Amino acid sequence: MAKLTVEDLELKGKKVLMRVDFNVPLKEVDGQQEVANDNRIVAALPTIKYVLSHGGRAVLFSHLGRIKSEDDKPALSMKPVAQRLADLLGQPVTFVPAIEGPELEDAINKLEDGQVLIFENTRYADVVDGEVVKRESKNDPALGAYWASLGDIFVNDAFGTAHRSHASNAGIAANIAQTAAGFLMEKEIKFLGGAVENPERPFVAIIGGAKVSDKITIIQNLLEKADKVIVGGGMAYTFAAAKGEKIGNSLFEEDKVELAKQLIADAGDKLVLPVDAVAADKFANDADSYVAEGDIKDGYMGLDIGPKSVELFKSVLADAKTVVWNGPMGVFEMPNFAKGTLAIGEELVKVTEKGATTIVGGGDSTAAIQQLGVADKLSHISTGGGASLEYLEGKTLPGIAAISEK
Ligand code: AMP
Repeated sequence: MAKLTVEDLELKGKKVLMRVDFNVPLKEVDGQQEVANDNRIVAALPTIKYVLSHGGRAVLFSHLGRIKSEDDKPALSMKPVAQRLADLLGQPVTFVPAIEGPELEDAINKLEDGQVLIFENTRYADVVDGEVVKRESKNDPALGAYWASLGDIFVNDAFGTAHRSHASNAGIAANIAQTAAGFLMEKEIKFLGGAVENPERPFVAIIGGAKVSDKITIIQNLLEKADKVIVGGGMAYTFAAAKGEKIGNSLFEEDKVELAKQLIADAGDKLVLPVDAVAADKFANDADSYVAEGDIKDGYMGLDIGPKSVELFKSVLADAKTVVWNGPMGVFEMPNFAKGTLAIGEELVKVTEKGATTIVGGGDSTAAIQQLGVADKLSHISTGGGASLEYLEGKTLPGIAAISEK
């Protein structure tokens, strides 16, 4: 990998600024905020422990939720996160209830090798004296420069915000000598970046979900890069309509039909569409349903891919060496329309066992993989929804672009 990673850094005695993704769900217990799910904190431990065990002085920060007014601040403080981090690390974590100023500067200067502090939610900077100023979210240059001045080097391990140019990622990176990827970031770059830049072939992409308009750029980018692009989910019905099929009440984006026609014509057999659907008379798990091949009856809507599509998609996946999957094949939240999505998840486990690299790109497909309990059997489950989408769309992510080259 061409990007600098935390393992390339000289850490001993250095003040190491660390952008982590501690945007965790909180819950109120007896009037106090507590961390409701610490997956993201646990995921960040390897990079934090690496820095501490190599003598770094870790200065941690993250955003947490969205701050739109002063009133949002108390419930979105990093304090409960600091407590949970201390428990997980098994060492004290100093919490500084500020994002700038002498209290923070003093605390950083007092850190010794192997010690760690975390400061307040970076998005506190988005509202100042009641006014929405978005200093963090709009990458105010002075804020990035100030945060950079607090440390010697910068480790960015927050992939989830890599598609945004914020003061706490791109802003700091622009003002500090070295920016390196943490282990989580490194893994995302390796798998998602590797798939779009240099995939082992055949490279098969599976794109599903509700709307063509949300995923059209991904489909276009992947048609250029992949050997096959499978399209399923609600968006497939706009393609079916473009082929002249009747789609009943299925999801349909009329303004995307021409584009769908053009993609079908240009892509040839590279684009693989469903050949049947599970059609239902209402959007409900207990709907009356049947398998439609070709036209869907009036009054019915396609809510899942049918068994022949599952077999077709499996045959396309059979000899794949790289697979990227984003978006469900149907309304997988309803058990009766989850079969297509779950079958794809199971097939991905099989192709992984045969040696393929399999990557799930965040969001609902990740939920499906977790429902199947096979997350650890695939090569990589991306932690970033929006970030992984934009990566697959072929966009440059500001947070990754800002990491120094080796
Ligand atoms: P996305 O966020 O674009 O990945 O879309 C995910 C959503 O698409 C899920 O909530 C699915 O229930 C929904 N979805 C998938 N297939 C269909 C379908 N055939 N009709 C309606 N919604 C669908």
